[in-house]
Amino acid sequence: MGYRALPAIVVLALTTSVLAGQTPAQHPAEEAFAAAVDEARLRRAVRELVALGPRMGGTPSNDASADYLADYFRGIGLDVEVFEDPPKLAHWEDSWRVELEDGSVLASAWPMGFSPSVPEPRSGQLLVVDNLTQATPTAQWRGRVIYTPGDVASAYAAVVKSGHLPLAILSSAPNDPPRYLDWSRITELPARADHPFPAFNVSYVDGRTLASAAETGRSVRVSLVSQVREGRPKTVVATLPGREADQYYLVCAHGDSDSGGPGADDNASGVSTVMEIARVYAALVESKQIPVPRYSLRFAIWGSEYHSSHAYIEREGERLRNVQAVINFDETGTGAERDAIYFESNEVPWNENLLRTFERVAGDYAKRHGFWTEYTTNPSQGGTDSYAFLPRQYKGKAYTSLQIPATTIYTAAWDKLAELPQTPGWESPGTPDPKNLKIDYSLYYHSSGDTPENTTEREPHNMVKAVKVTGLVLLRLNR
Ligand SMILES: [Zn+2]
Repeated sequence: MGYRALPAIVVLALTTSVLAGQTPAQHPAEEAFAAAVDEARLRRAVRELVALGPRMGGTPSNDASADYLADYFRGIGLDVEVFEDPPKLAHWEDSWRVELEDGSVLASAWPMGFSPSVPEPRSGQLLVVDNLTQATPTAQWRGRVIYTPGDVASAYAAVVKSGHLPLAILSSAPNDPPRYLDWSRITELPARADHPFPAFNVSYVDGRTLASAAETGRSVRVSLVSQVREGRPKTVVATLPGREADQYYLVCAHGDSDSGGPGADDNASGVSTVMEIARVYAALVESKQIPVPRYSLRFAIWGSEYHSSHAYIEREGERLRNVQAVINFDETGTGAERDAIYFESNEVPWNENLLRTFERVAGDYAKRHGFWTEYTTNPSQGGTDSYAFLPRQYKGKAYTSLQIPATTIYTAAWDKLAELPQTPGWESPGTPDPKNLKIDYSLYYHSSGDTPENTTEREPHNMVKAVKVTGLVLLRLNR
């Protein structure tokens, strides 16, 4: 039987299966991109960023990280601009110590943001208050160190107003083991420069230690060297020019640690992902292994999440019409229960082409060595810089009314498993239950445990996946 005699449907099926099998080999540019991604560089960038400090916008460690990033992007041959965004109240903490009177240190203690300095150690007898929000401060609170398993930020102002000022408050919230068992969730007091006493987050285990120490009337000694002042977050923008240079894809990540902690996964991982996409793309264009992209690639590391992407939108003004799409990275460095990569905001109608391309690239390479196994798009969850570019109906901030495609790529989000119904029409073969998504999370979300050792050093393949899938998507979309 000759070829022509084959029924059309069989020919179609054969052609499709051959193509599917050969897809990667037919894309030498994609093969070159994937082969150039360097896991060791991704890991090293996270370690180096975390070593600079929490990198919170408007602080000395933000200045240091902006210098580091500007040097890096210049070093790979890109044009770099550093922007000073509008001022905001910033805080940073240089050193602190929380210890029991016997000298045993509560190693998990981490100051709540905007806590005032207490450079000389102060000692006070422990007092347990189960629920600060509902308790009425009394004269008994004065000069004590209060331990609570509950929330502090919402109750802090009322305690101050009562005039019965404790020496410090220590909190093990959310006090929900095994979450935050040995590492403390990091929170902030309301953003003010004149709080009268500091507060610290501690782990669940250190909370138990404090509760039992309180039963025997023990004291705790605290000290803290901190700064609270206005600062201008620094945002670094680097450009790889395209053939139509004014139009561009915006590839970005927030450069601050968000919580004020080490922020390895949230979000040095995202920053490292952007750095590596830029490096590989620039190197392969330079060596002519991939073509000069049609539109420019603009790489932005926001000095302060939302604040700096908002400032960028304001600065761009009418030029924002030149943005082809926003591809944002937040938490590409870990996962707790699954081994998946996610592409967010599939219910936004103008994200259709962008996210279908992510889905196709993910499907073409799934289960190949060095690539991903599980992947899916998912509906908007909010809470990161892609939402600076989206309207409120998609959990956006509505800083612009333009319909700019905007997604966030990540491998973990928030601090517990999210179960979301999939947007109809987006059921993916890359996830076990395509209609009911389980979105992975970080055990170390916004905590003192968000270190390279706990996240990116354990699962560096997450960043590798984020770089590869985005590079291949850009190669297909931006020709
Ligand atoms: Zn984040």
